[in-house]
Amino acid sequence: AADNAKSSNVAKIKVVVRKRPLNKKEVAKQEEDIIDTVSDSLTVHETKLKVDLTQYVEKHEFVFDAVLNEEVTNDEVYCETVEPIVPIIFQRTKATCFAYGQTGSGKTYTMKPLPLKASRDILRLMHHTYRNQGFQLFVSFFEIYGGKLFDLLNGRKKLCMREDGKQQVCIVGLQEYRVSDVETIKELIEQGNATRSTGTTGANEESSRSHAILQLAIKRSVEGNVSKPPRVVGKLSFIDLAGSERGADTTDNDKQTRIEGAEINKSLLALKECIRALDNDQGHIPFRGSKLTEVLRDSFVGNSRTVMISCISPSSGSCEHTLNTLRYADRVK
Ligand code: ADP
Ligand code: MG
Repeated sequence: AADNAKSSNVAKIKVVVRKRPLNKKEVAKQEEDIIDTVSDSLTVHETKLKVDLTQYVEKHEFVFDAVLNEEVTNDEVYCETVEPIVPIIFQRTKATCFAYGQTGSGKTYTMKPLPLKASRDILRLMHHTYRNQGFQLFVSFFEIYGGKLFDLLNGRKKLCMREDGKQQVCIVGLQEYRVSDVETIKELIEQGNATRSTGTTGANEESSRSHAILQLAIKRSVEGNVSKPPRVVGKLSFIDLAGSERGADTTDNDKQTRIEGAEINKSLLALKECIRALDNDQGHIPFRGSKLTEVLRDSFVGNSRTVMISCISPSSGSCEHTLNTLRYADRVK
């Protein structure tokens, strides 16, 4: 009962904004930091032009569950976002942590350390609190690129998806590694990230057009039946989303870019709708319409938790993208 009380105390949806520091390039271009943060609220100072071309500043204020400023470390990000949901995935919960934002806003910087820290805590729970209870930890890592799935732990092998009729998603052929130490997990994460960025063209260009999905699954052997495969108890998914500005590439001259842009746009819109439906406890969750939400289908039903980390650049040059990101986060909240 105490465990149940604890799990219901963790908010179903949490929306957090992370502001990164100005980088060297922005400083060199004399761009300014236009974001003020005060506890859980944030103000964007947008410079606009009047018809007579004189400048004025328009302020936009937003409030979120948490606002993490440029001084906040990755450890603190973990404590604020994922740490509280780790214990509840032992209780039949599926949880998802997204990083949303334009390319260069800090999504990968923010997401990369989270699965490692989470698996360290999961293994600790498995070795102490849940000792000898048959729990096992599995890792998988894949990406969605142009609406297709690729295994990042198996040489970017193309994958396909199947539903089992019980609202469980099965990705056919996806490599799942059983892990029991942090070092192995670290190697797998590094391997996956390397596979992701060594695509066909430029590294960053490529990864900004794909959604990377790392899943930690907790399974348990069916009692007294070691011959049956262990069953999934809970799942924790980490999603480094495609650059949000890529969804606007729908009028690009290059046809492939346009197709990818349309797919990204569709998936980010569908994601927002699914999270909103989750919050309203609506019976109908609009998964269909994008690969991303179809793949995450089983994480949007039943007892699930979602953490959205919206990453923003502080610079004046990114003002429009930053406002778009904050409006998206506001809509999800
Ligand atoms: P994205 O994945 O959104 O395209 P990255 O995570 O690659 O962006 O970040 C872009 C650059 O900014 C990287 O060089 C990264 O190291 C740096 N960066 C991002 N966030 C921070 C932060 N909070 N503190 C320091 N550097 C950061
Ligand atoms: Mg990235």
